[in-house]
Amino acid sequence: MENRIFNFNAGPAALPLAVLEEVRDDLISYKGEGLSVMEMSHRSKTFDSIIKEAEELAKEVYSIPDGYHVIFMQGGATLQFAAVPLNLLGENQSADYINTGSWSKKAIAEAEKLGKKVNVIATSEDQNFNYIPDSFSINPDAGYLHITSNNTIFGTQWANYPDTGSVPLVADMSSDIGCRPFDISKFGVIYAGAQKNMGPSGVTFVIIRNDLMEKSPDNIPTMTSYKLIGGKDSLYNTPPTFGIYILKLVLQWVKDGGGLNKLAETNLMKANMIYDILDSSDFYKGTVVKESRSIMNVTFRLPTEDLEKDFIAKTLAEGMIGLKGHRSVGGCRASIYNAVPLEAVKTLTEFMKEFEKSNG
Ligand code: PMP
Repeated sequence: MENRIFNFNAGPAALPLAVLEEVRDDLISYKGEGLSVMEMSHRSKTFDSIIKEAEELAKEVYSIPDGYHVIFMQGGATLQFAAVPLNLLGENQSADYINTGSWSKKAIAEAEKLGKKVNVIATSEDQNFNYIPDSFSINPDAGYLHITSNNTIFGTQWANYPDTGSVPLVADMSSDIGCRPFDISKFGVIYAGAQKNMGPSGVTFVIIRNDLMEKSPDNIPTMTSYKLIGGKDSLYNTPPTFGIYILKLVLQWVKDGGGLNKLAETNLMKANMIYDILDSSDFYKGTVVKESRSIMNVTFRLPTEDLEKDFIAKTLAEGMIGLKGHRSVGGCRASIYNAVPLEAVKTLTEFMKEFEKSNG
Protein backbone atom coordinates (compact mmCIF):
# COMPACT_ATOMS: atom_id res chain seq x y z
CA MET A 1 0.00 0.00 0.00
CA GLU A 2 2.81 2.45 -0.85
CA ASN A 3 3.79 3.14 2.78
CA ARG A 4 0.28 4.32 3.59
CA ILE A 5 -0.88 4.15 7.20
CA PHE A 6 -4.38 3.43 8.43
CA ASN A 7 -5.90 6.86 8.92
CA PHE A 8 -8.60 7.33 11.58
CA ASN A 9 -8.24 11.11 11.70
CA ALA A 10 -11.40 13.11 12.42
CA GLY A 11 -10.69 15.65 9.71
CA PRO A 12 -8.97 16.42 7.48
CA ALA A 13 -9.28 12.70 6.99
CA ALA A 14 -8.53 9.75 4.74
CA LEU A 15 -9.00 10.16 0.99
CA PRO A 16 -9.44 7.22 -1.38
CA LEU A 17 -6.06 5.94 -2.56
CA ALA A 18 -7.35 5.72 -6.13
CA VAL A 19 -8.15 9.45 -6.02
CA LEU A 20 -4.70 10.36 -4.71
CA GLU A 21 -3.12 8.25 -7.44
CA GLU A 22 -5.12 9.97 -10.13
CA VAL A 23 -4.22 13.39 -8.69
CA ARG A 24 -0.57 12.35 -8.65
CA ASP A 25 -0.67 11.17 -12.26
CA ASP A 26 -2.25 14.43 -13.43
CA LEU A 27 -0.45 16.76 -11.06
CA ILE A 28 2.23 18.25 -13.28
CA SER A 29 0.33 18.22 -16.52
CA TYR A 30 -3.44 17.83 -16.28
CA LYS A 31 -4.58 15.55 -19.11
CA GLY A 32 -1.49 16.56 -21.07
CA GLU A 33 -2.34 20.27 -21.03
CA GLY A 34 1.09 21.17 -19.68
CA LEU A 35 -0.07 22.70 -16.40
CA SER A 36 -1.66 21.52 -13.19
CA VAL A 37 -5.23 22.23 -12.10
CA MET A 38 -3.73 24.51 -9.42
CA GLU A 39 -2.19 26.68 -12.10
CA MET A 40 -5.08 27.13 -14.49
CA SER A 41 -7.55 29.98 -14.63
CA HIS A 42 -10.84 29.39 -12.86
CA ARG A 43 -12.39 30.91 -16.00
CA SER A 44 -10.70 28.40 -18.31
CA LYS A 45 -12.69 25.89 -20.33
CA THR A 46 -10.95 23.02 -18.57
CA PHE A 47 -11.77 24.23 -15.09
CA ASP A 48 -15.28 25.07 -16.15
CA SER A 49 -15.82 21.47 -17.13
CA ILE A 50 -14.29 20.27 -13.83
CA ILE A 51 -16.63 22.38 -11.70
CA LYS A 52 -19.67 21.51 -13.82
CA GLU A 53 -18.83 17.82 -13.58
CA ALA A 54 -18.42 18.13 -9.81
CA GLU A 55 -21.88 19.66 -9.60
CA GLU A 56 -23.43 17.05 -11.90
CA LEU A 57 -21.81 14.19 -10.00
CA ALA A 58 -23.03 15.60 -6.69
CA LYS A 59 -26.57 15.77 -8.08
CA GLU A 60 -26.35 12.22 -9.38
CA VAL A 61 -24.55 10.53 -6.47
CA TYR A 62 -26.60 12.27 -3.75
CA SER A 63 -29.88 12.15 -5.73
CA ILE A 64 -30.38 15.90 -5.43
CA PRO A 65 -33.86 16.66 -6.77
CA ASP A 66 -34.78 19.47 -9.14
CA GLY A 67 -35.34 22.73 -7.32
CA TYR A 68 -32.02 22.65 -5.47
CA HIS A 69 -28.70 24.35 -6.13
CA VAL A 70 -25.24 23.03 -5.37
CA ILE A 71 -22.78 25.72 -4.24
CA PHE A 72 -19.07 25.45 -3.56
CA MET A 73 -18.12 28.00 -0.93
CA GLN A 74 -15.17 28.82 1.32
CA GLY A 75 -14.68 29.51 5.01
CA GLY A 76 -15.44 26.00 6.20
CA ALA A 77 -18.55 24.90 8.04
CA THR A 78 -17.72 27.68 10.49
CA LEU A 79 -18.59 30.39 7.98
CA GLN A 80 -21.89 28.58 7.38
CA PHE A 81 -22.70 29.06 11.08
CA ALA A 82 -22.93 32.76 10.16
CA ALA A 83 -24.16 32.37 6.58
CA VAL A 84 -27.28 30.42 7.53
CA PRO A 85 -28.79 33.07 9.85
CA LEU A 86 -27.54 35.94 7.68
CA ASN A 87 -29.21 34.53 4.57
CA LEU A 88 -32.33 32.92 5.92
CA LEU A 89 -33.63 35.07 8.75
CA GLY A 90 -35.92 37.94 8.01
CA GLU A 91 -36.09 41.05 10.23
CA ASN A 92 -37.07 40.01 13.76
CA GLN A 93 -37.44 36.39 12.75
CA SER A 94 -36.06 33.78 15.12
CA ALA A 95 -34.45 30.41 14.43
CA ASP A 96 -34.76 27.07 16.23
CA TYR A 97 -31.65 25.03 17.03
CA ILE A 98 -31.12 21.59 18.53
CA ASN A 99 -27.96 21.43 20.60
CA THR A 100 -26.23 18.07 20.28
CA GLY A 101 -22.67 19.07 21.09
CA SER A 102 -19.74 21.38 20.49
CA TRP A 103 -20.46 22.13 16.83
CA SER A 104 -24.14 22.84 17.46
CA LYS A 105 -23.07 25.18 20.27
CA LYS A 106 -20.75 27.02 17.94
CA ALA A 107 -23.52 27.37 15.35
CA ILE A 108 -25.83 28.77 18.03
CA ALA A 109 -23.19 31.15 19.38
CA GLU A 110 -22.44 32.50 15.90
CA ALA A 111 -26.11 33.26 15.21
CA GLU A 112 -26.38 35.00 18.58
CA LYS A 113 -23.24 36.99 17.92
CA LEU A 114 -24.97 38.39 14.85
CA GLY A 115 -27.81 39.57 17.06
CA LYS A 116 -30.23 36.90 15.84
CA LYS A 117 -32.94 35.45 18.04
CA VAL A 118 -32.24 31.79 18.72
CA ASN A 119 -34.47 29.25 20.46
CA VAL A 120 -32.73 26.10 21.57
CA ILE A 121 -35.71 23.76 21.44
CA ALA A 122 -33.85 20.66 22.64
CA THR A 123 -30.45 19.75 23.99
CA SER A 124 -28.67 16.60 25.13
CA GLU A 125 -26.25 18.51 27.33
CA ASP A 126 -27.87 17.00 30.45
CA GLN A 127 -26.24 13.66 29.56
CA ASN A 128 -23.00 15.09 28.22
CA PHE A 129 -24.37 14.85 24.66
CA ASN A 130 -24.52 11.06 24.58
CA TYR A 131 -27.85 10.95 22.73
CA ILE A 132 -29.91 12.69 20.05
CA PRO A 133 -33.08 14.26 21.49
CA ASP A 134 -36.28 12.87 20.03
CA SER A 135 -38.90 15.08 21.56
CA PHE A 136 -39.18 18.76 20.80
CA SER A 137 -41.63 21.14 19.26
CA ILE A 138 -40.72 23.44 16.44
CA ASN A 139 -41.89 27.04 16.47
CA PRO A 140 -44.11 27.38 13.41
CA ASP A 141 -42.75 30.89 12.76
CA ALA A 142 -39.08 29.92 13.00
CA GLY A 143 -36.94 30.88 10.01
CA TYR A 144 -35.47 27.39 10.12
CA LEU A 145 -34.55 24.50 12.38
CA HIS A 146 -30.82 23.80 12.57
CA ILE A 147 -29.41 20.38 13.44
CA THR A 148 -25.93 18.84 13.40
CA SER A 149 -26.52 15.54 11.64
CA ASN A 150 -23.40 13.88 13.04
CA ASN A 151 -21.55 15.01 16.13
CA THR A 152 -17.91 14.43 15.31
CA ILE A 153 -16.68 14.91 18.87
CA PHE A 154 -19.38 13.07 20.85
CA GLY A 155 -19.95 10.23 18.37
CA THR A 156 -23.71 10.64 17.94
CA GLN A 157 -25.69 10.78 14.70
CA TRP A 158 -29.30 11.41 13.80
CA ALA A 159 -30.80 8.09 12.71
CA ASN A 160 -33.92 9.75 11.27
CA TYR A 161 -34.32 13.39 10.42
CA PRO A 162 -37.22 15.33 11.93
CA ASP A 163 -40.26 16.39 9.94
CA THR A 164 -40.36 20.15 10.10
CA GLY A 165 -43.42 20.93 8.00
CA SER A 166 -43.08 24.34 6.42
CA VAL A 167 -40.08 25.32 8.55
CA PRO A 168 -36.91 24.72 6.51
CA LEU A 169 -34.62 22.09 7.99
CA VAL A 170 -30.95 23.10 7.94
CA ALA A 171 -28.25 20.52 8.62
CA ASP A 172 -24.56 20.72 9.29
CA MET A 173 -23.55 17.44 7.63
CA SER A 174 -19.82 18.10 7.80
CA SER A 175 -18.94 14.73 9.25
CA ASP A 176 -21.47 12.40 7.65
CA ILE A 177 -22.54 13.74 4.28
CA GLY A 178 -22.89 10.91 1.81
CA CYS A 179 -22.24 8.14 4.34
CA ARG A 180 -25.65 6.70 3.39
CA PRO A 181 -28.56 7.69 1.15
CA PHE A 182 -30.39 10.78 2.43
CA ASP A 183 -33.66 12.36 1.37
CA ILE A 184 -32.70 15.88 0.36
CA SER A 185 -36.30 16.95 -0.15
CA LYS A 186 -36.62 17.07 3.66
CA PHE A 187 -34.03 19.87 3.84
CA GLY A 188 -33.85 23.56 3.06
CA VAL A 189 -30.08 23.78 3.37
CA ILE A 190 -27.35 21.19 3.86
CA TYR A 191 -23.75 22.26 4.35
CA ALA A 192 -20.50 20.42 4.93
CA GLY A 193 -16.83 21.23 5.15
CA ALA A 194 -15.43 18.84 2.53
CA GLN A 195 -12.53 17.55 4.59
CA LYS A 196 -14.12 14.39 5.97
CA ASN A 197 -16.25 12.61 3.37
CA MET A 198 -15.80 14.73 0.26
CA GLY A 199 -12.26 15.94 -0.28
CA PRO A 200 -9.64 18.28 1.11
CA SER A 201 -10.24 21.23 3.42
CA GLY A 202 -10.89 24.60 1.80
CA VAL A 203 -14.12 23.70 0.01
CA THR A 204 -17.48 23.98 1.70
CA PHE A 205 -20.24 22.07 -0.01
CA VAL A 206 -23.75 23.51 0.13
CA ILE A 207 -27.09 22.19 -1.14
CA ILE A 208 -29.87 24.76 -0.97
CA ARG A 209 -33.50 24.87 -2.06
CA ASN A 210 -33.87 27.45 -4.82
CA ASP A 211 -36.50 29.57 -3.08
CA LEU A 212 -34.22 29.90 -0.03
CA MET A 213 -31.28 30.89 -2.19
CA GLU A 214 -33.29 33.81 -3.46
CA LYS A 215 -33.87 35.11 0.08
CA SER A 216 -30.34 36.37 0.76
CA PRO A 217 -30.49 40.03 1.81
CA ASP A 218 -28.32 42.44 -0.17
CA ASN A 219 -26.50 43.81 2.87
CA ILE A 220 -24.66 40.68 3.98
CA PRO A 221 -20.98 39.97 3.23
CA THR A 222 -20.52 38.72 -0.32
CA MET A 223 -18.70 35.57 0.71
CA THR A 224 -21.65 34.48 2.84
CA SER A 225 -24.34 35.18 0.25
CA TYR A 226 -25.99 32.10 -1.23
CA LYS A 227 -27.69 34.30 -3.81
CA LEU A 228 -24.47 35.93 -5.02
CA ILE A 229 -22.21 32.88 -5.01
CA GLY A 230 -24.87 30.39 -6.06
CA GLY A 231 -26.16 32.80 -8.67
CA LYS A 232 -22.72 32.84 -10.29
CA ASP A 233 -22.41 29.03 -10.24
CA SER A 234 -19.76 29.23 -7.48
CA LEU A 235 -17.56 31.42 -9.69
CA TYR A 236 -18.28 34.82 -8.15
CA ASN A 237 -14.64 35.07 -7.15
CA THR A 238 -11.75 32.60 -7.36
CA PRO A 239 -13.08 29.38 -5.87
CA PRO A 240 -10.86 26.75 -4.20
CA THR A 241 -10.11 25.19 -7.59
CA PHE A 242 -7.86 22.35 -6.56
CA GLY A 243 -10.18 21.28 -3.76
CA ILE A 244 -13.17 21.26 -6.10
CA TYR A 245 -11.20 19.11 -8.54
CA ILE A 246 -10.40 16.55 -5.83
CA LEU A 247 -13.99 16.64 -4.58
CA LYS A 248 -15.09 15.77 -8.10
CA LEU A 249 -12.75 12.78 -8.14
CA VAL A 250 -14.06 11.63 -4.75
CA LEU A 251 -17.65 11.78 -6.02
CA GLN A 252 -16.61 9.82 -9.10
CA TRP A 253 -15.00 7.25 -6.76
CA VAL A 254 -18.27 6.97 -4.81
CA LYS A 255 -20.21 6.50 -8.04
CA ASP A 256 -17.80 3.90 -9.43
CA GLY A 257 -17.91 2.03 -6.13
CA GLY A 258 -21.67 1.54 -6.37
CA GLY A 259 -23.02 4.79 -4.92
CA LEU A 260 -24.45 5.60 -1.52
CA ASN A 261 -26.31 2.31 -1.02
CA LYS A 262 -23.12 0.35 -1.36
CA LEU A 263 -21.20 2.79 0.81
CA ALA A 264 -23.86 2.63 3.51
CA GLU A 265 -23.56 -1.15 3.60
CA THR A 266 -19.80 -1.00 4.03
CA ASN A 267 -19.98 1.86 6.52
CA LEU A 268 -22.47 -0.03 8.68
CA MET A 269 -20.32 -3.14 8.55
CA LYS A 270 -17.25 -1.13 9.58
CA ALA A 271 -19.05 0.57 12.46
CA ASN A 272 -20.60 -2.65 13.73
CA MET A 273 -17.24 -4.37 13.80
CA ILE A 274 -16.11 -1.85 16.41
CA TYR A 275 -19.44 -1.56 18.25
CA ASP A 276 -19.58 -5.36 18.58
CA ILE A 277 -16.33 -5.23 20.48
CA LEU A 278 -17.58 -2.43 22.73
CA ASP A 279 -20.77 -4.38 23.43
CA SER A 280 -19.10 -7.67 24.22
CA SER A 281 -16.37 -6.25 26.44
CA ASP A 282 -16.12 -4.97 30.01
CA PHE A 283 -12.83 -3.38 29.09
CA TYR A 284 -13.96 -1.01 26.35
CA LYS A 285 -16.97 1.19 26.99
CA GLY A 286 -18.88 3.07 24.29
CA THR A 287 -19.81 6.63 25.27
CA VAL A 288 -23.10 6.89 23.38
CA VAL A 289 -26.59 5.36 23.80
CA LYS A 290 -27.17 2.68 21.17
CA GLU A 291 -29.94 4.37 19.20
CA SER A 292 -27.80 7.47 18.66
CA ARG A 293 -24.52 5.84 17.68
CA SER A 294 -22.60 7.34 14.81
CA ILE A 295 -21.40 5.15 11.97
CA MET A 296 -18.70 7.75 11.21
CA ASN A 297 -17.11 8.54 14.59
CA VAL A 298 -17.00 5.72 17.12
CA THR A 299 -16.12 7.04 20.59
CA PHE A 300 -15.08 4.83 23.48
CA ARG A 301 -13.22 4.73 26.78
CA LEU A 302 -10.81 2.28 28.37
CA PRO A 303 -10.78 1.55 32.12
CA THR A 304 -8.16 4.24 32.89
CA GLU A 305 -6.59 7.24 31.19
CA ASP A 306 -3.20 5.55 31.46
CA LEU A 307 -4.50 2.59 29.50
CA GLU A 308 -5.95 4.98 26.92
CA LYS A 309 -2.54 6.63 26.51
CA ASP A 310 -0.89 3.25 26.13
CA PHE A 311 -3.59 2.12 23.66
CA ILE A 312 -3.12 5.20 21.49
CA ALA A 313 0.68 4.92 21.57
CA LYS A 314 0.53 1.27 20.56
CA THR A 315 -1.94 1.87 17.73
CA LEU A 316 0.49 4.47 16.37
CA ALA A 317 3.31 1.96 16.57
CA GLU A 318 1.09 -0.47 14.61
CA GLY A 319 0.56 2.04 11.81
CA MET A 320 -2.82 3.45 12.87
CA ILE A 321 -3.15 7.21 13.28
CA GLY A 322 -5.87 9.43 14.74
CA LEU A 323 -7.41 7.28 17.48
CA LYS A 324 -7.16 9.86 20.23
CA GLY A 325 -10.49 11.38 21.27
CA HIS A 326 -11.05 15.11 20.79
CA ARG A 327 -9.04 17.12 23.33
CA SER A 328 -12.24 18.48 24.88
CA VAL A 329 -13.59 15.03 25.83
CA GLY A 330 -10.60 12.67 26.02
CA GLY A 331 -10.90 8.93 25.48
CA CYS A 332 -10.60 7.29 22.08
CA ARG A 333 -12.31 7.87 18.77
CA ALA A 334 -12.15 5.98 15.51
CA SER A 335 -13.27 8.16 12.62
CA ILE A 336 -14.24 5.73 9.90
CA TYR A 337 -15.36 7.94 7.05
CA ASN A 338 -16.22 6.68 3.58
CA ALA A 339 -12.60 6.45 2.42
CA VAL A 340 -11.38 4.44 5.42
CA PRO A 341 -11.07 0.92 4.04
CA LEU A 342 -12.55 -2.16 5.69
CA GLU A 343 -9.01 -3.44 6.07
CA ALA A 344 -8.17 -0.52 8.38
CA VAL A 345 -11.10 -1.35 10.63
CA LYS A 346 -10.17 -5.05 10.62
CA THR A 347 -6.65 -4.14 11.70
CA LEU A 348 -8.03 -1.91 14.46
CA THR A 349 -10.51 -4.46 15.80
CA GLU A 350 -7.89 -7.21 15.84
CA PHE A 351 -5.60 -4.88 17.72
CA MET A 352 -8.39 -4.01 20.19
CA LYS A 353 -8.94 -7.67 20.99
CA GLU A 354 -5.24 -8.28 21.52
CA PHE A 355 -4.88 -5.19 23.68
CA GLU A 356 -7.78 -6.30 25.87
CA LYS A 357 -6.20 -9.74 26.27
CA SER A 358 -2.93 -8.26 27.47
CA ASN A 359 -4.44 -5.57 29.67
CA GLY A 360 -7.98 -6.64 30.59
N1 PMP B 1 -19.31 20.98 12.10
C1 PMP B 1 -18.90 19.73 12.34
C2 PMP B 1 -19.90 18.66 12.58
C3 PMP B 1 -17.53 19.45 12.36
O1 PMP B 1 -17.10 18.21 12.59
C4 PMP B 1 -16.60 20.49 12.10
C5 PMP B 1 -15.11 20.26 12.03
N2 PMP B 1 -14.62 19.17 12.66
C6 PMP B 1 -17.09 21.78 11.88
C7 PMP B 1 -18.45 21.98 11.87
C8 PMP B 1 -16.16 22.93 11.62
O2 PMP B 1 -15.75 22.83 10.33
P1 PMP B 1 -14.69 23.78 9.63
O3 PMP B 1 -13.37 23.50 10.29
O4 PMP B 1 -14.75 23.38 8.20
O5 PMP B 1 -15.12 25.19 9.86
